[in-house]
Amino acid sequence: MTKTEAKILLKKWFRQHHAHLPWRPDNLNEKRNPYFVWISEIMLQQTQVEAVKKHYENWVKDYPDVFTLARANETDVLLHWQGLGYYSRAKNIHKTAGILAEKWNGKFPQTRPELEALPGIGKYTAGAILSFAFHQKEPILDGNLIRIFSRLHLFDFLPAGKKETGIYWNEAANWAHDREPHQINEALMELGRVLCKVQNPLCGQCPLQKICKAGMQKRTAEFPPKKETIRENWSGVILVIESTDQKILSIRESDARFLKNQRSLPLFEYSKAHTRGLPGAAEKWVSPEAIADYQWLSKPVRHSITKFKMECGVLHIRLKKKAPKNNPMWVPRIQTSNAFANKLCLKALELIEAQS
Ligand code: SF4
Repeated sequence: MTKTEAKILLKKWFRQHHAHLPWRPDNLNEKRNPYFVWISEIMLQQTQVEAVKKHYENWVKDYPDVFTLARANETDVLLHWQGLGYYSRAKNIHKTAGILAEKWNGKFPQTRPELEALPGIGKYTAGAILSFAFHQKEPILDGNLIRIFSRLHLFDFLPAGKKETGIYWNEAANWAHDREPHQINEALMELGRVLCKVQNPLCGQCPLQKICKAGMQKRTAEFPPKKETIRENWSGVILVIESTDQKILSIRESDARFLKNQRSLPLFEYSKAHTRGLPGAAEKWVSPEAIADYQWLSKPVRHSITKFKMECGVLHIRLKKKAPKNNPMWVPRIQTSNAFANKLCLKALELIEAQS
């Protein structure tokens, strides 16, 4: 079977079996709104389709275009992102919306270099926008396509170095060179998601089975080769500092190691020198004289941020005084679930609630 024949079969399969998704128009040949493509593609990075659906629908309801998003404040944007993780994606979306509103009159540039110059838009996202919204013959390459290409050709390497990356992108460009590049790209992504799965791919239903070496040789488990994920352990302490009028201190730090520029609870690295008493590092936010009592929670909070596997002790500190008046960094305890956009802090606050 030739590549051209394989492309025809692939598109036919996609037209018959594609899933209905909130960001996918019923007419598969319709040029899509680039704003919707952009938001959905960024949300789909590192997140499963099912988890993205609700977030996407809420997002486009509240921010239906570049201008509404550009005008929104960052805290609101991060709250809309809550649950998707990797908050730098939301911050970049917000920054890029500002640039598009100001410099591009709310429109999207239609060349790769111009798109890739925008914060948070990399090679993949630029390709998706150019392909799905403007029907250009531009390649895309994500985890799904990497898995398919590796299996089709028995590539025993990942796109890690320059040479290997070039091989994968060339293959993607080859596929995108079609009268309907948008359908080919989308069909490959869908194929990777529903048939060419990481484990137990459904080769018997696959339109590419006649050109797939790993499928024909029953070696799909070997391809693509496994990536070594190195997770670094990180131990920390989270402070929940509460005033007598039940307000919790939040912080926002530009030089924080985690949750930079985000509203968060005070957080610092655990040192072996800490005892179960009051750690000296806590004095950055609270003086010992201001404390009525404190209590270490019996359970730690476990959470992963990028490559870090975190385990944080939670220290609940009660103060002798009320919170300063009209200070927005003091959040009423009953409103904390809306005020904090990150899971790490929310988990710590849930533990406090559970133990109260
Ligand atoms: S034949 Fe199997 S391994 Fe090959 S692309 Fe199709 S689903 Fe993937």
